[in-house]
Amino acid sequence: MNTRTVQPNKRELTALFAAMKQLNNAGQITENCPRCGKPIIFETRGSKYISRCSDKNCIRIVGRGI
Ligand SMILES: [Zn+2]
Repeated sequence: MNTRTVQPNKRELTALFAAMKQLNNAGQITENCPRCGKPIIFETRGSKYISRCSDKNCIRIVGRGI
Protein backbone atom coordinates (compact mmCIF):
# COMPACT_ATOMS: atom_id res chain seq x y z
CA MET A 1 0.00 0.00 0.00
CA ASN A 2 1.59 3.18 -1.18
CA THR A 3 -0.45 6.16 -0.30
CA ARG A 4 0.65 9.72 -0.52
CA THR A 5 -1.36 12.15 1.44
CA VAL A 6 -0.88 15.59 2.78
CA GLN A 7 2.02 15.72 5.18
CA PRO A 8 0.80 16.81 8.59
CA ASN A 9 2.63 19.69 10.16
CA LYS A 10 3.67 19.72 13.78
CA ARG A 11 0.37 21.02 15.10
CA GLU A 12 -1.59 18.51 13.06
CA LEU A 13 0.61 15.65 14.22
CA THR A 14 -0.04 16.70 17.78
CA ALA A 15 -3.78 16.54 17.15
CA LEU A 16 -3.54 13.09 15.58
CA PHE A 17 -1.59 11.80 18.55
CA ALA A 18 -3.99 13.49 20.95
CA ALA A 19 -6.83 11.65 19.23
CA MET A 20 -5.11 8.32 19.83
CA LYS A 21 -4.58 9.22 23.44
CA GLN A 22 -8.24 10.13 23.84
CA LEU A 23 -9.28 6.81 22.40
CA ASN A 24 -6.97 5.06 24.81
CA ASN A 25 -8.03 7.00 27.87
CA ALA A 26 -11.68 7.78 27.23
CA GLY A 27 -12.64 5.19 24.62
CA GLN A 28 -13.57 7.80 22.06
CA ILE A 29 -12.07 10.57 20.02
CA THR A 30 -13.31 14.08 20.55
CA GLU A 31 -10.48 15.73 18.67
CA ASN A 32 -11.32 17.10 15.25
CA CYS A 33 -9.02 17.50 12.31
CA PRO A 34 -7.10 20.76 12.75
CA ARG A 35 -6.97 21.21 9.00
CA CYS A 36 -10.59 20.76 7.95
CA GLY A 37 -12.56 20.26 11.17
CA LYS A 38 -13.86 16.80 10.33
CA PRO A 39 -13.66 14.01 12.90
CA ILE A 40 -10.42 12.09 13.35
CA ILE A 41 -10.73 8.34 13.12
CA PHE A 42 -8.45 5.56 14.20
CA GLU A 43 -8.16 2.21 12.51
CA THR A 44 -5.90 -0.80 12.51
CA ARG A 45 -4.90 -2.78 9.46
CA GLY A 46 -3.03 -5.91 10.31
CA SER A 47 0.06 -4.75 12.13
CA LYS A 48 -0.41 -1.13 11.17
CA TYR A 49 -2.39 1.54 12.86
CA ILE A 50 -3.70 4.61 11.21
CA SER A 51 -4.84 7.81 12.83
CA ARG A 52 -6.42 9.99 10.21
CA CYS A 53 -8.91 12.59 9.26
CA SER A 54 -12.21 11.12 8.12
CA ASP A 55 -11.52 12.86 4.83
CA LYS A 56 -9.39 10.39 2.91
CA ASN A 57 -7.38 13.09 1.19
CA CYS A 58 -6.54 14.91 4.36
CA ILE A 59 -3.91 14.28 7.01
CA ARG A 60 -2.96 10.94 8.45
CA ILE A 61 -0.26 9.13 10.31
CA VAL A 62 0.52 5.47 9.91
CA GLY A 63 2.36 3.53 12.53
CA ARG A 64 3.46 -0.01 13.14
CA GLY A 65 1.73 -2.19 15.67
CA ILE A 66 2.66 -2.59 19.26
ZN1 LIG B 1 -9.02 16.91 7.73
